[in-house]
Amino acid sequence: MRPESLFPLFKPVTSIKGIGPRIAPLVERAAGPHVIDLCWHLPSAIIDRRYAPLIAAALPGVVATMTVTVDKHAKPPNKRLPYKVFCSDDSGKIALVFFHAHEDYLRKNLPAGEVRVVSGKVEKFGKELQITHPDHIGTADEIAKLQAVEAVYPLTTGLTLKVLGKAVRASLEALPVLPEWIDPAYLAKQGWKPWRDALLDAHGPEDEAALDPKAPARQRLAYDELLSNQLALALVRVAMRKVKGRAIEGDGRLRASVIGALPFKLTGSQEIATREIIEDMAAPVRMLRLLQGDVGSGKTVVAVLAMLNAVEAGGQAAIMAPTEILARQHLATIAPLAEAAGIEVVLLTGREKGKTRQAVLDKLERGDAALAIGTHALFQDDVAFQALFLAVIDEQHRFGVHQRLTLAAKGRAVDILVMTATPIPRTLMLTAYGDMDVSRLPDKPAGRLPIDTRVMPIERLDEVTQAIKRSLDSGAKIYWVCPLVEESEVLDVAAAEDRHAYLKRIFGAAAGLVHGRMKGKDKDAAMAAFASGQTRILVATTVIEVGVDVPDATVMVIEHAERFGLAQLHQLRGRIGRAEKPSTCLLLYASPLTSTAKARLKIMRETDDGFRIAEEDLRLRGAGELLGTRQSGLPEFRLADISVHGELLATARDDAALIISRDAELVTERGQALRTLLYLFEREAAVRNLRSG
Ligand code: ADP
Ligand code: MG
Repeated sequence: MRPESLFPLFKPVTSIKGIGPRIAPLVERAAGPHVIDLCWHLPSAIIDRRYAPLIAAALPGVVATMTVTVDKHAKPPNKRLPYKVFCSDDSGKIALVFFHAHEDYLRKNLPAGEVRVVSGKVEKFGKELQITHPDHIGTADEIAKLQAVEAVYPLTTGLTLKVLGKAVRASLEALPVLPEWIDPAYLAKQGWKPWRDALLDAHGPEDEAALDPKAPARQRLAYDELLSNQLALALVRVAMRKVKGRAIEGDGRLRASVIGALPFKLTGSQEIATREIIEDMAAPVRMLRLLQGDVGSGKTVVAVLAMLNAVEAGGQAAIMAPTEILARQHLATIAPLAEAAGIEVVLLTGREKGKTRQAVLDKLERGDAALAIGTHALFQDDVAFQALFLAVIDEQHRFGVHQRLTLAAKGRAVDILVMTATPIPRTLMLTAYGDMDVSRLPDKPAGRLPIDTRVMPIERLDEVTQAIKRSLDSGAKIYWVCPLVEESEVLDVAAAEDRHAYLKRIFGAAAGLVHGRMKGKDKDAAMAAFASGQTRILVATTVIEVGVDVPDATVMVIEHAERFGLAQLHQLRGRIGRAEKPSTCLLLYASPLTSTAKARLKIMRETDDGFRIAEEDLRLRGAGELLGTRQSGLPEFRLADISVHGELLATARDDAALIISRDAELVTERGQALRTLLYLFEREAAVRNLRSG
């Protein structure tokens, strides 16, 4: 259970005075739903209000805080002109200017004859000095509060700094003093303050330097977040390893027959990766390994060999894909290999229903089927395996941690192999998995030719159509990917349907269509028609992005390429260049191009190295957005920025390992403080792996 000391922080933002039902949604959009989210909402800039000149000395264009006497109010003759309040000090005069003024309010806050403190940007209007809409007006004794450095927070439309700033300050009043979870020696070495003080410092920047992610207060907070992330991952791993692993050692019999049946020779890196996995499975601890290889690098075969190893050892193996198309494609690839090995494979997706589904479930439960291929459907409650030894999770970035672990729970001490084509930089990988073992497939199967990538404006569609016609005449297969419209899948589909209609007018029945809103059966039929050559130009939305393998497709047209991220363009382009014939990718864009879009298209033309593309992506977008973390299943950080705090991440990883080795149940005094840390960052799932304490 969440410690009581944190209760005030997890109240809804509406519990804060001044946040009513109208403001609440805006605050939630800017910061988040809970008081703690406001505390995590750090300033992005400052306004320095310490400059306090006499009126005559005030510099136009600079924010000043001045003590003035209110001389008189001047109401305008008509509403379009501003209301003015004339003020002065011993050195000179200044006018305060208000458009759409509320006279009552102004008379109350700026009573004639009284001394007031005003703060805002000084302007020169003709010969006169003025401040239009001062940011703050206060009484003389409020000068210390006003003549300060003001924190500026990231806002959202409709929300003013005044309102949000006040809400943040109110949220900080709820901050409890918490026990220290950072190792005292490390804390002292870094010169960091306790958590609460650090957070207050982060909200009270004295200068620009305090906004730097490397400022001490921000580093401490980033470290807290990274430590909670690394500790949570370490705890999950401990829980996984508590269940004794099993040594899985096949005799190589099935693998040999499959390798014999392959129409190609394994590449060197496929062999190395396979050996690493087989050795890992043979160890008596549970395997948790990532197989990373760019699109087209041939991960599937490696997975199949690992799965056969499990079967040789008397168990079952399952492979889970993120989409139905992919699951079916795996079936198409794996079924003939399984047949060569003389074992039975079943498919389980959302589409298997009723009797068919029951038959599949029976086979898995009795152990008649050695291999299962499927989607999320594999981890529904009523799916049981006779002896699941290995779970392979393909294109894992589409799955959350929870889903990965659910499949693992389908057996006792199941070994896990996750496969990804996303070249996740090392740091990001640490945040997603902690210290996971990694096998890589750095080189592609031999004989692949580089893809000729060209960038063209959509105005040249006629030319493109002509070129497509020539390619078709020479026997090519063509993917035509239609624009991604973020907000609406319906619009995506409409665009694809329009393009399909256009191409159909020109190429007739050779043009097929597949999109995300089609029924599963129709999707399969469209893919099958393309694979068999019945259609030879396939108009698609991004459903083909992940994993689809039609090796003899050699042309890809991507419309509105400027709307895609680099990683996505790379994934898409990876669908071609799989044959031994040269491939061409045409990136069609609509003007005007932003400079980022231009840079992205240029990189696509220059390289097809997934790692270089991922790095450029990181550079162009910043770490937070890389891979679109939200949909990627990678954690998002509020306070840490791994492109800046990489070193802290490494320390947090080591620290977490040390904690686990000394106090795996988090029962010592520091252990208790660390539990609080986990709750603070909403990683209670990790705490649940502990015995209660
Ligand atoms: P990905 O890593 O993107 O999942 P796949 O496993 O789908 O890649 O493999 C891509 C294509 O390369 C498939 O058509 C596969 O049959 C083929 N392939 C795999 N390994 C080799 C190899 N060693 N030599 C030639 N072709 C291979
Ligand atoms: Mg694949």
